[in-house]
Amino acid sequence: MKLHEYQSKQIFHKYGIPIPKGRIASTALEAKHIAEELSGNVVVKSQVLVGGRGKAGGIRLARTPEEAEEVASQILAMEIKGLPVRKVLVDEAANIESEIYLGITNDRAARKPVMMASAAGGIEIEEVARISPEKIIKIHIDPLLGLRDYQARDIASGIDLSRHHWKVFGQIATALWKTYQDHDATLAEINPLVITTNNKLVALDGKMLIDDNALFRHPDLAEMRDLDAEADSEIEARKYGLSFIKLDGNIGCMVNGAGLAMTTMDIIKLYGGSPANFLDIGGGAGSDKVAAALRIILADANVQAVLFNVFGGITRCDEVAKGIISALKEVKSEIPMIIRLVGTNAEEGRKILASQNMTTARTLVEAAQLVVAAAKGV
Ligand code: GDP
Ligand code: MN
Repeated sequence: MKLHEYQSKQIFHKYGIPIPKGRIASTALEAKHIAEELSGNVVVKSQVLVGGRGKAGGIRLARTPEEAEEVASQILAMEIKGLPVRKVLVDEAANIESEIYLGITNDRAARKPVMMASAAGGIEIEEVARISPEKIIKIHIDPLLGLRDYQARDIASGIDLSRHHWKVFGQIATALWKTYQDHDATLAEINPLVITTNNKLVALDGKMLIDDNALFRHPDLAEMRDLDAEADSEIEARKYGLSFIKLDGNIGCMVNGAGLAMTTMDIIKLYGGSPANFLDIGGGAGSDKVAAALRIILADANVQAVLFNVFGGITRCDEVAKGIISALKEVKSEIPMIIRLVGTNAEEGRKILASQNMTTARTLVEAAQLVVAAAKGV
């Protein structure tokens, strides 16, 4: 789950990272009032969950409260990369001397969090990594030891930060690590961390990604979820407790068990097809859950064929079969469906499906071949 800039910066602030003074507004008039309070130049920033807002015109400076109102009304009418702007952050404007990148993410290969920093901040770090990877300093953090002081100093020296900033930089880096750890984040990023013309370090931008699987222990964060930035199908799936991820292919997959779902996607690929989604309906799914899952799969216009791959352990195959049939009564569809059922009550399940003229397969290979051919219209 992604947090907005203002949410991330509020968290950073709680941990002692300096941020500009400012507040959030949902109308141009509120933006004007905030600018009056702040007195002086302000920056009006669209709050949407995409990067590169600056380039898209979603971040503008204003010299007077009237100008802030004007700019805010323009930004609030914008859509950035398909997302509507519903809020703007009005911050005291900073006078920037230089921009630093500082972020933490998980390095799966190293099985550790990694802190990255660069003197080439401001632009997206992926760009820096592409054009001049040598400008990014990386340090792995042992999760049991946390970020050590010497590591923060190594980073500071690695990005040629002037020595008198090291102490504050170290405090910011340590605080960023704590926010990362305490919130079960998969990314905590300050880009840019600026040095102002009066020699202060300030986090101008903030970004956090929170591990969805940890949200149960962060109810306060879970409440911050912004549904605008998510695929409708994923929102719908969450309501039914389905693990669903939308992909770009044309073969819908309905599977029970995450491992089996991964295997199903692999075997579809192996036989030349392309999955439209990852879906784990979970153990013990009854017919209502199956119906919901099928509705979600069929709502995707790319889907040309559907593969059901169900291993009946806790889940009973006849229940799944009934679910498929009741869902199809509701969601009339001409799309070919291939069904592989094995395990508990598989025979009953197949009988139910055969009575409705549906194609069943006995092996996974057969199922994959059939569904790939069906998706190609063969
Ligand atoms: P992003 O484009 O979505 O990453 O949004 P940022 O918050 O990082 O802003 C993009 C750029 O706008 C920054 O790198 C700065 O160069 C500039 N910017 C943001 N806030 C200020 C500010 O208060 N003063 C000045 N002069 N520039 C700013
Ligand atoms: Mn930024």
